Formats: sequence, C-alpha cells, structure tokens
Amino acid sequence: MARYTDAVCRLCRREGEKLFLKGERCFTPKCAFEKRGYPPGMHGKMTSARPGRESDYAKQLRAKQKARRVYGVFERQFRRFYGQALRMRGLTGINLLQILETRLSNVVYRLGYASSRAEARLLVNHGHFLVNGERADIPSFAVKVDDVISVRERSKDSAYFKTLKEEAEARTVPTWLARDTSNLAGRMLRLPERSEIDGNLDEQLIVEYYSR
Ligand code: SF4
Repeated sequence: MARYTDAVCRLCRREGEKLFLKGERCFTPKCAFEKRGYPPGMHGKMTSARPGRESDYAKQLRAKQKARRVYGVFERQFRRFYGQALRMRGLTGINLLQILETRLSNVVYRLGYASSRAEARLLVNHGHFLVNGERADIPSFAVKVDDVISVRERSKDSAYFKTLKEEAEARTVPTWLARDTSNLAGRMLRLPERSEIDGNLDEQLIVEYYSR
C-alpha cells in the first residue's frame, strides 16, 4: 500500500474525527473535516446518518488504522513495531505507543521543528537532522534517552530553517523533551508516559487486534 500523499483529509473523514495530519491547516476553517464531517465517497453522507453497530473486530481494526494514520506508518512496519513491543518488558500497548512516539520524525514534530508529522518525515528524509552529531535521515530511527537532535549546519541557511526559530517558539514541547530553540536542537530526557501520548488512541484495542 502506498502512503497517502494527497487527499490526506479523507483519512480524518474516514475515521470520523480530526487526526491533525496537515499542520496549521487543521486549525483553520479550511479543514475538510470541519466542512464535510462525514465519510468520503458516494455513500459517505448516508453511512454517517446510519452508523449501525460495530463488531469488536471492526473496532480493533479502526483503532489500529487510526494509530497507523496518525503516525504515518506502513502496515508492515506497524506490525514490526508491534512485534518489538511484545518482546519488551511491560505493557505491550504502551511499549508500542512509546516506540511510535520516539521515532525520529515524531520527535522532530514534538520538538516543534515541523508543523505536522508528514512534514517532519520529509525534513528527516532530506537529511536536515542529526542525532548526536551524526546524519540521520531515516524517519523511523529510534531516538533514545539522552540523544541530541539538531538541525544540520548547512540547512540552517535555508529559508525554512531561518524562520523556524520563531515558529517553533509558538509550539509547546512535551516535558519528556527539552528544546534548545536558539541552536535548533533538542534532547530526549526520558520516555514519554502514557498520559503524554495522544489520549484518543486505544492501545488495548490494537493489542486485541494483533492477538486474534
Ligand atoms: Fe484532518 Fe487536518 Fe485535513 Fe482537517 S485539515 S481533515 S484535521 S488532516
């Protein structure tokens, strides 16, 4: 399955809620969900008018798809993360969310250096970020406690990064990360706790989906 590069808003409409996949636009009246808050497609409006009763499987599937869409992860990769979470100590669902949260592209987004996860993924892909001084251009790179994320020196001269300090200042940073805006850098202080991760995600249903 290809990653959605356009019509991203359809994913929100499909899930029946705002997933905030398009950065600043999500907070404006241009948001497609605000304008058409029913599922996409010919029968979308009718479907939302007659919701019907969802099976347990449908709920589990939706929970998994939602998390995958929020973080922009392919199915195969998501399953691999689940396997990894299963082998770790502690609660599988929370391990999974922590794996997703500590991916480099998500950390860049959480540090406020991108307006959306999709944008963060692109910036990482283009090699604008370093981890502990080394080039890191893989969005799924696992950031560890005490790792330092910074913008490559050469990139700081680009138009995007020149205005970024001001924009980043306006964005809040979770307490498990420390941002050094003046140097366009940041550090991971600890793993995020469950309460610091998107409350709309249901990790228990995701675990049930993969445990069938
Ligand atoms: Fe979803 Fe953002 Fe598009 Fe609104 S603008 S539908 S929140 S991706």
